Amino acid sequence: MEPTPLQPRSLPSNETFVKGILDGNRTLLSRAITLIESTRVDHTEKAQAIVEACLPHSGNSFRVGITGVPGVGKSTFIEALGMELIGRGKKLAVLAVDPSSSRSGGAILGDKTRMDRLSREENAFIRPSAAGASLGGVARKTRESIVLCEAAGFDTLFIETVGVGQSETAVHSMVDFFLLLMLAGAGDELQGIKRGIMEMAEGMVINKADGDNLSAARRARSDYQRALHLFPAHPGNWTPQVRHCSALNNDGIAEFWDSVILDYLKSTQSNGYFNQRREEQAKYWFREHLEERLYRSFYSHRAVRAQMNELEERVLKQEMTPFKAAEYLFALWKKQV
Ligand code: GDP
Repeated sequence: MEPTPLQPRSLPSNETFVKGILDGNRTLLSRAITLIESTRVDHTEKAQAIVEACLPHSGNSFRVGITGVPGVGKSTFIEALGMELIGRGKKLAVLAVDPSSSRSGGAILGDKTRMDRLSREENAFIRPSAAGASLGGVARKTRESIVLCEAAGFDTLFIETVGVGQSETAVHSMVDFFLLLMLAGAGDELQGIKRGIMEMAEGMVINKADGDNLSAARRARSDYQRALHLFPAHPGNWTPQVRHCSALNNDGIAEFWDSVILDYLKSTQSNGYFNQRREEQAKYWFREHLEERLYRSFYSHRAVRAQMNELEERVLKQEMTPFKAAEYLFALWKKQV
């Protein structure tokens, strides 16, 4: 696990940060991500400047989203696949989007003992999820961290998330390939996987296909492959693929990478979908960020906050229509920004 040092008084200059990141300095990369994650305004401003300077050097990686319920084997899978890719000379960064870390204080992902072997590799960089008040905030921070990791020379990025909520949609909007890990023998409801999430997946892997579980995994694989045919066509002219593997025994992992993920990469790069999706994602994040800024600006506005409760009461007492009250607040906000 990467250290997250932050000594506010002795922060290096922006130039030092940017040069260090471009040189692949992991300590500076780590510290810059800590700045991204900070809630302090001066840190946020510094982080923005660093991210912007790194932006022209980003984009050159293959981003893979990995989701699945707790216990499905995400970290075992990532470790096995990660070690394989590093053996092939790849540089891998693993980031996580886990909004639960802010709510419960205990993250579902990001436990220090996870991915033990991978975390000791020179060419792997593992960073647990940022904490944040909202999924939008956590996701934005991860997206900015992606820029820094790519600028630091990581050519393969895994973005991990827990398959239990809205975070899959956020992760889907920042990756090139979205992978869903499943187990055999558990109904979809049991696994907490919604149909919408299956629809987003470019690939599915039935994990723990070993021992007594192997034949159930084979059956699940063909069931899911058949079910995927009923979903709307993939916009990249791709047929989502289902395989089975044993992350624990490192069985079927390299094959999945080669025969599904690399095949997808080749096919979508040649038909233009790869770039088109990245452009759509950039547009999405632009709008998303703008909306978040507007929202925060509005609700943190002093006059708006001061009047909010009173206006609400007047609406309840029917002294004012909801529309007029809202328009009034909006005008207040507009006047003073
Ligand atoms: P995560 O919560 O999704 O990250 O799941 P973990 O990777 O922590 O795995 C949860 C448990 O399942 C651990 O005890 C793993 O050893 C076990 N596990 C993971 N992959 C496999 C597999 O392919 N086969 C078997 N039998 N167990 C596995």
